[in-house]
Formats: sequence, structure tokens, C-alpha cells
Amino acid sequence: MKIAIVGAGLAGLCAARSLLDAGEGELTVFESRAGPGLETSHANGALLHPSAVEPWNSPGILRFVLANLGNPRSPVLLRPRALPSLLGWGARFVHESAPARHRAHTLANVALALRSVQLMQGLRDEGIEYGAAQRGSLAIHRDAAAFAEAQERARWLREHGVPSRVLSRDEALALEPALAPIAGTLVGALHNTGDECGDAYRFCLAVGARLESRGVAFRWSTSVQALRAERGVLAGLCLADGREEPFDAVVLAAAWWSVALASRLGLKLPVRPVKGYSLTLPQPDDANDGTDAAAGPPPRTPIVDHDLHIAVVPVVGDRLRVAGTAEFCGEDRRLDPARIGNLMQLLLQLYPALAGHAKRAPRQEWTGLRPMCADGKPLIGATRVPGLYLNTGHGQLGWTTAAASGELLAAAVTRRAPPIDAAPFLPSRFGL
Ligand SMILES: Cc1cc2nc3c(=O)[nH]c(=O)nc-3n(C[C@H](O)[C@H](O)[C@H](O)COP(=O)(O)OP(=O)(O)OC[C@H]3O[C@@H](n4cnc5c(N)ncnc54)[C@H](O)[C@@H]3O)c2cc1C
Repeated sequence: MKIAIVGAGLAGLCAARSLLDAGEGELTVFESRAGPGLETSHANGALLHPSAVEPWNSPGILRFVLANLGNPRSPVLLRPRALPSLLGWGARFVHESAPARHRAHTLANVALALRSVQLMQGLRDEGIEYGAAQRGSLAIHRDAAAFAEAQERARWLREHGVPSRVLSRDEALALEPALAPIAGTLVGALHNTGDECGDAYRFCLAVGARLESRGVAFRWSTSVQALRAERGVLAGLCLADGREEPFDAVVLAAAWWSVALASRLGLKLPVRPVKGYSLTLPQPDDANDGTDAAAGPPPRTPIVDHDLHIAVVPVVGDRLRVAGTAEFCGEDRRLDPARIGNLMQLLLQLYPALAGHAKRAPRQEWTGLRPMCADGKPLIGATRVPGLYLNTGHGQLGWTTAAASGELLAAAVTRRAPPIDAAPFLPSRFGL
């Protein structure tokens, strides 16, 4: 079977890899950019975190967004100009936030994330190198009531296979001594011991190279303009230069850009872009480089700070990445210096000892559009257009869910039994 995959981010590459492993040899990956992992998968928060797979449409987030409407410093922003494009999607987003649905979606994502983390071990064993680290992640808390609530949620997740342990402030400091300057503000932490981290871009490069060496054809700098169907059955695709190419099946893994391609075949994907930012600094040898008042070692453990809405993650040992912010702003890909400045301020609230280093160090600023599905779960599997498959809508979780999403997708194409329940992710739940 001749199969085309549109998009060489985490979702497309993992789909291609699993299809190849399943014996599908004639694979062609089309990618607009000059190489793999140059869009949303490029400089994300680097966390593979089964502990944090709750869809973002929790009632708490909605209250937060509404309370911060128009506040340019808010970590979660709704830009008024994006409102028209969010109307139908937003209604579904709110509908899916009902507690029972939200819990079910969370558990489906947990299963996908745990399977992914398991598969990543296999990939590392095969020599795919991406600076993986298995120190877990530390979710820190400053407010006793919020900490109690988080412990309750962690207990529930433990029952469903997501490991964690509750740490006192001193235990948290022992695990991450770089938190010493803000120790007085902390009430405790959760150590999510099953979480991992690694450089998604490095992973994309490694998987892309491996696939190429195994015979997968990559068409870089080649945008797919449209999908082509004949009598309701997928027949191939059209490229920007007007050429048409026939395929037996197409896997749409083009993140948010999948929406426009699918709509030409009458499929309205409930996926919208949610913009995020990251900032990457070299890891300081010593956070107190002689100019800062507070001494301390450099950060070593990934930190998730729910109060500041950021994650700060050591990447490949030599860099420190801070990621966060969620902007519902349509397809606006500009890198806003004010948002980057905001991220830097939040980083320094967490690690004040880094102030001198942060001022002098070269930094990489980045923004990406999370492809967010209205119910907070990706769309993986066959559509009602025979021959057209989706692997998109991974939102804030696409690094955590990538490997297992590829496996589910390949099971759908080859009609084999999926390793975990595929039903929660099927496009048919939206009539697609
Ligand atoms: C700030 C931020 C932090 C994040 N942190 C984390 C994290 O810590 N953990 C986690 O699990 N997830 C995280 N994510 C989410 C994760 O990065 C995404 O879910 C994931 O990268 C999505 O992968 P993708 O392959 O679907 O999209 P992409 O990587 O965007 O890949 C889609 C590809 O399709 C290509 N394409 C588009 N249109 C066409 C076309 N017409 N023809 C050909 N090619 C096309 C694009 O060029 C692109 O390369 C974060 C995201 C952001 C923005």
C-alpha cells in the first residue's frame, strides 16, 4: 500500500515509524519545512508527563481565563480577535469540561501516555538518542489548600498507574537544592516519579534519520495543498506546484494545519491553535556566578509550577528550558517580546539566583501553536473518508503521547488489534 504522511513533527514521524514496523514499506512523508521537527515539536517543554495529561478545559481554567480577560501578563490569554474562530469549538470545549467527561478524558490520556513512556524505552534501546532523563518531575506548591487538592488528584492517578510521592518542603529541597532561595514560600511538592524529559527536536532528527535509512522517502520543503478524493474515497494529494500524486492512504499529521486540509473533504476537525512560548538558556555551571546574592547549585530536576503556570526543565544536561503561556489568538505566530519577558520574570521568581546568568547568557526564544482538540484528547485513526487517517490534535501533550499515537495509528491502518483502547481517540467521536 502506498501511504503518504503529511507532517514531520512528532505525530507524523511516530506514525511513519510504527507503520514501517508494521510492515508498511512504501511510505512518503511530506513536510512544508526544510527538515523534521521545525514547528510545534521544536522547543516544547520537553516533558513526557503522564502525571499532567488532564485536558485544559477544567472548570478552574475557564474561571481563570475569564478572570484574566484583557490582562496581557496573564499566563492564559484569550485574544478578542480569536473569538469568532473559537465559537463552536469553545462550546464543545466547555461541554467536555463536565466532571465525569473530564475524568474519562484524563484517564484515556493516562493510558496513552503510559504506553508512550513504555515505548520510549524501546526506542532508546534501539539507539534513538534525545537526551532522555528519568528524574521524574517535581510539582511544587505554595498554597496548603491547593496542595491538599493536588494530593487527592495524585492519589487518584496512582490508582490508575501514574506513580508519585508526596514530599515535605525539606524533602523537595533535598531533591532540588536550587529551590533553596524560595524554600520559605513552599508548603510541599509532588514528585511524579514516572515523568521523564528529553529534547523533542533531537528526537525528531534521530527518528527522521533512522526512517530515511530504512527507506522512507522524505519530501522536505514540500507543502501539501489539498487532499484529493474520488467518489468519496481518498485518491491522493495535490502539491503547491499543482502536481497531483496518487496514494492509497494519507495520514494527516499536520497539527493545526490539518484543519484546512481536512475541510476540503468536508471534515471539520475540532482543533484550534493555542500559542505557547519557550525560552532556552545554557545551564549555568553554578547558579551563583559571583554577582547574585543567593548561592546555589544549578537546577537539575524538572519543575512544574502550577502557581506560575510554567515548567522549567533541564534539557540534555546543558540547557535550561522554561515553557508556558497559553494564548487563544488564532493563527498568530509572531513572537511577542512582552510574552518572552513575562516568561523570564516567572523563571526568576522561581530561581532568583539565576538573575545574573539570565541577563548575560545567550537565549533561544521560541513560540509554537499547540493543536488543541475540543475534548483535550488527540484524534487518532480512520475517518469516514476511506483511506484518510488522522494523527493530530495533541495539544499540550504531543511529546508525551507521540510514540503511542503512532502505534495506534498503525494499528488502525493495518487493521490490527490496538495495544490500548483506541475508542477514546477515534475521529468518529466527532462524526469525522
Ligand atoms: C510552549 C509549548 C510547550 C509544550 N510543552 C510540552 C511538553 O512539555 N510535553 C508535551 O507532551 N507536549 C508539549 N507541547 C505540545 C507538543 O509540542 C505538541 O503537541 C506536538 O509538538 C505536536 O506535534 P505535531 O507533530 O502534531 O505538530 P508539529 O510538530 O507542528 O508537526 C506538524 C508538521 O506538519 C507540517 N505541515 C503543516 N502543514 C503542512 C502541509 N500543508 N504540507 C506539509 N507539511 C505540513 C508542519 O510544517 C509541521 O512540521 C508543548 C507545546 C508548546 C507550544
